[in-house]
Amino acid sequence: MRSLKTLEDISDGRIYDIEDTVKAGTGGCDGCSACCHDVGELVVLTPFDVYEMVSGLNVSFDELLIDKLELRENNKIVLPHLKMYGDSKRCSFLGIENRCIIHGHRPDICRLFPLGRVYEDDDCKYFLQVGSCMKSNLEKVKVKEWIGIKNNHENKAFILAWYRLLKALTFRLKFVRDDQELETINKSLLDIFYRMTLKDEEDFYSAFLRCLPEAKNQLSII
Ligand code: SF4
Ligand code: SF4
Repeated sequence: MRSLKTLEDISDGRIYDIEDTVKAGTGGCDGCSACCHDVGELVVLTPFDVYEMVSGLNVSFDELLIDKLELRENNKIVLPHLKMYGDSKRCSFLGIENRCIIHGHRPDICRLFPLGRVYEDDDCKYFLQVGSCMKSNLEKVKVKEWIGIKNNHENKAFILAWYRLLKALTFRLKFVRDDQELETINKSLLDIFYRMTLKDEEDFYSAFLRCLPEAKNQLSII
């Protein structure tokens, strides 16, 4: 029987905060694209990830679903993931020179790698996924700079709120057996958060917070 790996097994045993320094810098990856293959199941996209792609590429969520993203179900929740192509399962955003064509708008999970995020006590921090990157001798970098996201504070508040929402929805859906009801709930989730329209002067984070109470109501979660 295969045993489940613990955080201690896959990390260097340390938990890092945003201002900490960690040996995670790949120095541009030198043509490697190993972690951009066969990650369709792993890279679950948040509404912020999709917002970044939609605004950066000037396309709609539904246009991305034609050939760049795909919907996958896990624990009865349907969420968008990166789409992979070919025998080597290349990410749809991996360019011909093995560079990410949406580097500035890449998803949260891609930004973090080889870091991962750990959630505890209504907070989240980071860990180093030891041995997961093909490059040896990773450079020391500040976590904040490695992730390279603007408005860290608001981004973290969004990530925690999204994590709590998915956790509550996972619990709620355990009791839903009717396929039609599941389909309606999942459609609402996608419509509210992934097809969200920002009002004038509104940024992503304030739009998300505006939609959150009504979404909880519609999805019947606390
Ligand atoms: S495996 Fe490491 S070096 Fe290779 S593309 Fe990913 S982050 Fe870069
Ligand atoms: S979005 Fe970019 S960084 Fe992420 S897996 Fe695809 S090509 Fe790689």
